[in-house]
This record gives sequence, C-alpha cells and structure tokens, in this order.
Amino acid sequence: MASDTPGERNIAVKRRGAWQPRRVVITRDARTYAHGVAMAERCAGAGLEVDELSGNAVRMPRAASERAAYALAKNTLAITVAPPSKLRLQPIAPSADWRIDLAQGCPAHCSYCYLAGSLKGPPITRAYANLDDLFDAAAAVEGAGTITSRSAARVGEGTTYEASCYTDPLAIEHLTGNLSRAVEHFGAWKADVQLRFTTKFADVAPLLALDHRGRTRMRASVNPAAYAPFEGGTDRVADRLTALGAMAEVGYPIGLTIAPIIAAAGWREAYSELIAEAALALRGIDALDLTVELITHRFTESSRAVLRSWYPGSKLDMGDTGRAVKYTKFGTKKIVYDRETMAELKGFFHDRIARDLPAARILYWT
Ligand code: SF4
Repeated sequence: MASDTPGERNIAVKRRGAWQPRRVVITRDARTYAHGVAMAERCAGAGLEVDELSGNAVRMPRAASERAAYALAKNTLAITVAPPSKLRLQPIAPSADWRIDLAQGCPAHCSYCYLAGSLKGPPITRAYANLDDLFDAAAAVEGAGTITSRSAARVGEGTTYEASCYTDPLAIEHLTGNLSRAVEHFGAWKADVQLRFTTKFADVAPLLALDHRGRTRMRASVNPAAYAPFEGGTDRVADRLTALGAMAEVGYPIGLTIAPIIAAAGWREAYSELIAEAALALRGIDALDLTVELITHRFTESSRAVLRSWYPGSKLDMGDTGRAVKYTKFGTKKIVYDRETMAELKGFFHDRIARDLPAARILYWT
C-alpha cells in the first residue's frame, strides 16, 4: 500500500527479486562497444558468469523438450549489437511517433504476452550495446513523427519515442543500465522530444535521481491483483503503483497502461478496485502529469498458438466466444472482444477514470 505521505514514497519502492539469468553471453561485436563491456561488468558484479562468444550468433544449447528450450531461452541474457533494421525507427501507433528498442525480449511469463506474436526464434533477452547508434537514429527522425505529433491532443508531447515495444526495459535495468542511459540522453537532448516506457516492474530506484528534465514518461502497466496468475515473474501491482508515485514525486510525467483489459468474470469489481488503488497511490502529488492508455485483450492465431504452447496451464480465456475478428491496415487478422463487450468495457473505463482519476488524460482506447 502506498504511503500517505508523499515524501515517504521513495523509500517505499521495492520489488520481489531482480531477475538473475542462468546464462549470460556477450557477442564478439558487442565487446567492441564500451557500453557492451559495461553491461558485462554489471552482470559479473551481480555474480553472473559472462560467456564471451567468438562470433555474433547466439546459439541455444539443444534442449530435451520444447518446454525446456523455452525455459532455457527465458533464462538467457545476450549482450548483442542492435542490427541495422533497429536503426531505421518505425512508427508505433497509437503510442508514439517512433519505436526505439533498447533491448528485445523479457524475462517475465505473462500468459497474454504480445511478444509471442512479434518475436521470432527462442525468447531470449537481448540487450543492445550500441545505444549511441540508436540515439543517432532517433535524432535523425526528430520532428518527423506521424503519430502523436499529428494528434492535436498530443502534439505537446513533442516527438515521442516508445521503448517498451519489444521488451520491458525496467525488468532488465539492473543488468543493463540501458534505460538510465536513455533517460539521461533524452534529458540532455535540447529538443521537444519525449522518451516513453511502460513496465510491469517496480525497481525505479536507479531512475529517481537522474537528470530527466521531464523528457521521459513512465507508465505502469497494470491489471487487477486478481489477475496476477496471468503475469508470472512480474512485480506486484501495488509495488508498481508505489514506484509510479515515486517517479511522479521527482518530476517525471507518468501514466497508467491498463493492459490488457480482460473481461473475465467479476471484471467490473476487479477494475474498480484497481482504479481506486491507483488513485490512492497517486493522491496528493503536486503538479501530477498523468495519462491513461486503455488496451483490450487481443491476439492473433499465431500468438495464441505460441502462448498456448508456452503456458498450457494458464486459465486465461483465449477462446472464440465473445470475440470478433479485426484486420489491421497490414492485413493481419486480430481476435478482439466483440462489439457489445467492447462498448461495455469502454463506457465503464471512461466513467470510472473520470470519477476516480479526474486529473488523468486518456490517450487512447484500443
Ligand atoms: Fe511480455 Fe510485458 Fe509480461 Fe514481459 S512483462 S512477459 S513483455 S507482457
């Protein structure tokens, strides 16, 4: 539970236990970057053995079963170099003008993880050593955004860069330092720009004292505590909210990503409690700059198949009842809630947020 006294929030930030991968490797090229070496040293300092690869390919040892291969990959951190494709930043609607990937992969085990449909190969976590190349790529598209920059309601955010599309950057920050470097980079960047990240983790201690200049917006990705079994390996929602309050206390703009919204039995009560808990955690913060993003549960046929193989015991409903099919502009088929359910959810969230979090700006519903 958050402290009633705002000044006490910083010391209340905590988490369950930082991720300790079973295997850490660094590629040949990553070792040519000072930041790559720094990440390897951080890992060694955390008591992890770092395997120096002779090349740049990260090969996984043969596993006895698909299940064992998944577990091994999820327990592997690879320090690598972001490939050229990552240096051509892409728009990422509706969140931000551009996507900036500081890493790829995540050690948590969410039954609905969107990465299941977007990443190819074993789900290892790769942390990129060539951050300066990524920052140069970001500079090259500053002022050329087509998503938030074209939105009358959001143009005040400047050119926006989303760092949580292919990873949860806070989940691995203790081993990479990538997020801190990005926050400092954006803080020192004298331009109308904003870094954005969303997280299901709570250890914001490394970020609190950084010179962020208000150019990074942290969002806590939250769901009701009752849905915790769907979010294996993440930090408790109450801790994420406390962390969010601590970030707001030191002047970061903040937000809630309520995602994925799951219309399971009892959802009204569960989400009512969640929104009330968020309001309590953020109570009394001066000059609160709070946004809310609302994302309903969705999946593709292929991500559903991957998730069912990764989490065969999950109780998360991924059936076709109460669902509708939607096509993206790229022709990809997505399975979403049907029109009736969507309308009911949308009405509820807009009403409840207006009532309990009147200072919040809802950025989008999807
Ligand atoms: Fe996927 Fe986010 Fe969960 Fe990580 S925290 S497993 S990225 S949904």
